[in-house]
Amino acid sequence: MTIAVLDLATETAKLLAELGVDAGRYHGGTLSVTSPVTGKEIGRLREASVSETKAAIEAAHQAFLEWRAVPAPKRGELVRLLGEELRASKAALGRLVSIEVGKITSEGLGEVQEMIDICDFAVGLSRQLYGLTIATERSEHRMMESWHPLGVVGIISAFNFPVAVWSWNAALAMVCGNSTVWKPSEKTPLTALAVQALFEKALKRFVAEGGTAPANLSTLIIGGRDVGEVLVDHPKIPLVSATGSTAMGRAVGPRLSQRFARGILELGGNNAAIVCPSADLDLTLRGVAFSAMGTAGQRCTTLRRLFVHESVYDQLVPRLQKAYGSVTIGNPLESGTLVGPLIDGQAFEKMQAALGEAKSAGGTVTGGERVGNGLTDAFYVRPALVEMPDQTGPVEHETFAPILYVMKYSDFDAVLALHNAVPQGLSSSIFTNDMREAETFVSARGSDCGIANVNLGPSGAEIGGAFGGEKETGGGRESGSDAWKAYMRRATNTINYGRTLPLAQGVKFDV
Ligand code: NAD
Repeated sequence: MTIAVLDLATETAKLLAELGVDAGRYHGGTLSVTSPVTGKEIGRLREASVSETKAAIEAAHQAFLEWRAVPAPKRGELVRLLGEELRASKAALGRLVSIEVGKITSEGLGEVQEMIDICDFAVGLSRQLYGLTIATERSEHRMMESWHPLGVVGIISAFNFPVAVWSWNAALAMVCGNSTVWKPSEKTPLTALAVQALFEKALKRFVAEGGTAPANLSTLIIGGRDVGEVLVDHPKIPLVSATGSTAMGRAVGPRLSQRFARGILELGGNNAAIVCPSADLDLTLRGVAFSAMGTAGQRCTTLRRLFVHESVYDQLVPRLQKAYGSVTIGNPLESGTLVGPLIDGQAFEKMQAALGEAKSAGGTVTGGERVGNGLTDAFYVRPALVEMPDQTGPVEHETFAPILYVMKYSDFDAVLALHNAVPQGLSSSIFTNDMREAETFVSARGSDCGIANVNLGPSGAEIGGAFGGEKETGGGRESGSDAWKAYMRRATNTINYGRTLPLAQGVKFDV
C-alpha cells in the first residue's frame, strides 16, 4: 500500500482550481477537512455564521420571486447547461469525491454520472409539470389543477453522497421554479464548493446566451448543525429536504411540523435481502458482495441483514466468507481496490462496538479488523460477516460500516415478518426464481420498504424511480417518478364561464 506517501492536499488544490474554485475558499478557516484516504487535512474552510445564513435565505427568497416568473422550459435550459458542465468535469469532480469521501474511483465517477442523469431527467420534466383537468358537477364550469413554484428549498445533505443528493433536489427544485440553499455535510464541504462553482459557470453561460436568472438562485452555506437548524426553522423556507441519520430526522421533523413546513426526510436504512431455495447463487453472491461491501458499507441502501434459506445456507455462506476474506481493501484511488476507508475514527469505533454487541448476542464474527497501512488517522477495515442466531441487538440498528449479519431461515412467511420487523424501511431485495415468492415480496404483504428488488441487491438505485423509504427512514421521496410534486404547490382552479352561479352539492343561497 502506497497511501502513506500520497499528497492529497496538493492534488485537492489542483482539482479545485480545475473545477473553478477560488483558492481563498478553502484556506485558513476554522473547518478542517481531512481525506479519509490518508486521514490528513486537505483543506480549511470558513464557516457561515447564523446571521449570514439568515441573510442568505432572505436573498434566496428574492431570487425565488424572480425565478418563478421564468417559464419552466427556460428554467430547464439552465439545468441542461449544468448537466453539460458536469459532463465536462466528470473526471475531476469524481476524483474529488473519491478523495473527500474515500469512495473507489468508479463509485466517485458514478456519483457524478448520477448528477448528470438527474439533470437530463429534470430537463425533460421542465416541459412536463402537468396538472389534471377534472370533471365538474356544475354546468359551464371547468376544474383543473395547476402546479406552482413553492419557494426557497433548503437542502441538508450527508457525507456519503456529498454531491448527488444536492443534484437530486436542486435539479428538480430549479425546473420547478424554486431557489435553493444547500448545507452540505461538514465532513464534505470541498466537493460542495466545486459543485457550486460548476453551477455558477452554467449560470454565466445561461445569462450570456440570453437567459434570465436572478443572483442567489443557488446558495451554498458551509457549516455544521447550527446553520442547518437555521434552514429548518426559517419561515421563508417552505420545504427542507434533509438527508442523514434517523437521529437528525428526529430532531428536524418536529421542528418542521411545528411551523407547518414540508420535509423530505431521507434517513437511515437497515436493508435486508432474502435468499430463497431457488436462487441463482452465483448472481446472489455478486449482488450481496456489492451491496454489503461496496462503499465500505457506507450507503444508506447498504445490505446489512441477509436471510438465507437453510437448504442453500451451507452453499452460499462459505463462498461469501471467501469473498470477504479476499476482497481488495486499500487506496480507493488505485484501480483494483473494491473497499476503501471508513469516513473517520468515530465510524471505526462504532463498528467495533457493534461487533462486540453481536458477539455478546451469540454472533460469530469473520473479519471486521483494522487493516494496517502505517497511517494512524485513516481507518481501513476488513468487512465483517457475522452469523447470528437471531435478529437481535445490533442487527436491529443501522451501524454505518461494512457489517453483514447473516441468519438462517426455514419458513417464507416467517422470514417476511422478520424482514419487516425492524424500525427502518428503506431498501430490500429477494433472490429467487420462484415467481410466487418474487411477486409476494413486491406485493402489499411483502417488503414494507420504499424500494423492493428481485434478483439484485438493495443498493445502487437509478434516478428514474422515486427514492426513499418508510418508517424511521422518514417517508420522503426524491429523484424520479413524480417526486417533483413535493417541490411545487398545487392549486385547484374552478372557472365559471356561464352566466349563472350553480353551487356545488345543490346548495341554494339566493339573495
Ligand atoms: P448526519 O445525520 O450526521 O448528518 C447529516 C446532515 O445533517 C449534515 O449536514 C449535518 O450537519 C446535518 N444535521 C445534523 N443534525 C442536524 C440538525 N439537528 N438540524 C439540521 N441539520 C442537522 O448523517 P451522516 O453521518 O452525514 O450520514 C450518514 C447517515 O445518512 C446514515 O444514517 C445514512 O443511512 C443516511 N443517509 C440516508 C440517505 C437516504 O436517502 N435515505 C442517503 C444518504 C445517507
